[in-house]
Amino acid sequence: MNFHEYQAKQLFADYGIAVPAGRVARSPEEAVDAAKAIPGNLWVVKAQIHAGGRGKAGGVKLAKTLDEVREYAKAMLGTRMETYQSAGVALPIDSVLISEGTDIAQELYLSVLVDRGTQSVTFIASSEGGVEIEKTAEENPDAIQTLNVNFVQGLQPYQCRDMGFALGLNSKQVNQLTRIMLGLYRLFNEKDLALVELNPLAILKDGSLAVLDGKVNSDDNASFRHPDLVAMRDIRQEDETEVKASQHDLNYVTMDGNIGCMVNGAGLAMATMDVIKLNGGEPANFLDVGGGATKERVTEAFKLILSSDRVKAIFVNIFGGIVRNDVIAEGIIAAVKDVGVKVPVVVRLEGTNVEEGKKLLKESGLAIIAADDINDGAKKAVEAVKQAA
Ligand code: ADP
Ligand code: MG
Repeated sequence: MNFHEYQAKQLFADYGIAVPAGRVARSPEEAVDAAKAIPGNLWVVKAQIHAGGRGKAGGVKLAKTLDEVREYAKAMLGTRMETYQSAGVALPIDSVLISEGTDIAQELYLSVLVDRGTQSVTFIASSEGGVEIEKTAEENPDAIQTLNVNFVQGLQPYQCRDMGFALGLNSKQVNQLTRIMLGLYRLFNEKDLALVELNPLAILKDGSLAVLDGKVNSDDNASFRHPDLVAMRDIRQEDETEVKASQHDLNYVTMDGNIGCMVNGAGLAMATMDVIKLNGGEPANFLDVGGGATKERVTEAFKLILSSDRVKAIFVNIFGGIVRNDVIAEGIIAAVKDVGVKVPVVVRLEGTNVEEGKKLLKESGLAIIAADDINDGAKKAVEAVKQAA
């Protein structure tokens, strides 16, 4: 689950990390009120969307007067914003963060994540923040500091100091960094997070450190024990189809191709996408209907796939082990009858009750293209898309 910047900063503050004064606003008037409550006469108006790269897209504006605050908030609120990090989607700006404007001397990068390679919570820091960190990692790997935390010992203050001095900070800044890192480590573990990123963690003109941006991502598998985090969820920022899928316990990820896939088992679903690509096609989604798929779930899954007008053909690839092919067939028939289907459907069934499943489909009178195996099915789906075009 992703969070807004203002929510991330609230979490930081809860863990003793100082953040610039700020308030979220949902209308231009609220934005002006928020600015009035913040000391000083320089503010930033920041679009709250679930993507970084807002600065370059015009979603971070420095305002020198309250009128400018109002203008910027008005220009952003109610619109949509696409950034180089939003995966081709324009996200709705329903709120803006009004924050204290600061004088930046230098921008650092600091993140916390789980490094699978070393099986440890890991801090990554760079004295060259603000820009795309991938670029720094590629062009100037020496500017990146990495710290793997031993799970038993936990994060030790001396490790934070080492990192701070390696970043070129002075002793006062190193103390500040230590406090930030210890707070982040506690937050990361207690809230079961997957990623925290401060980019930039800025050095201000007065020499102090300031957390100017915050990105937090939590581990969905632990959501059940963090109702406070779940309450912060903003589904307007999420893919509509994926939200619907999660309500039906379906494992669904939107892709940008045109062949809809309905598969049981995550491994077979991945293999199906691979084989489609191998045959020159592009999958429109990843979908695992699960081992214990019921007729209702299959129907919902089929409807989800059909809800995208990008889908030009559907490939149903089922290996029935626990799930029965006749149940899958009933689901397909029910869904097609329910919502109607105007694209070719290629079906490959194998395993438990395969004959019953095939028989049901044949007797349904639906125009279904039968496939013998995964490769044959993928080929036929790619072919069907070509013929439709
Ligand atoms: P994004 O990462 O989505 O582009 P940021 O919050 O990192 O958004 O803002 C982009 C840039 O705007 C920062 O790198 C920084 O230079 C500037 N900026 C952000 N917040 C402030 C602030 N409070 N005061 C001054 N400049 C800021
Ligand atoms: Mg940023």
